[in-house]
Amino acid sequence: MAYKISDDCISCGACEAECPVNAISAGDSKYVIDADTCIECGACAGVCPVSAPSAE
Ligand code: SF4
Ligand code: SF4
Repeated sequence: MAYKISDDCISCGACEAECPVNAISAGDSKYVIDADTCIECGACAGVCPVSAPSAE
């Protein structure tokens, strides 16, 4: 399963630069992960200050 970003996201943008496959982009109210592109590496979860990305 791809990672997902919860509503806890504060749109800091840190995860976007860490994603090796560029699956993360800024959405309307939070950053979002393209499920078809995510390879579940966990890098986004590792850099997020509020632990918003998680595997489901
Ligand atoms: Fe990108 Fe890895 Fe996060 Fe998936 S788990 S969105 S591939 S950084
Ligand atoms: Fe949102 Fe966390 Fe990504 Fe920052 S690192 S944009 S808080 S998911």
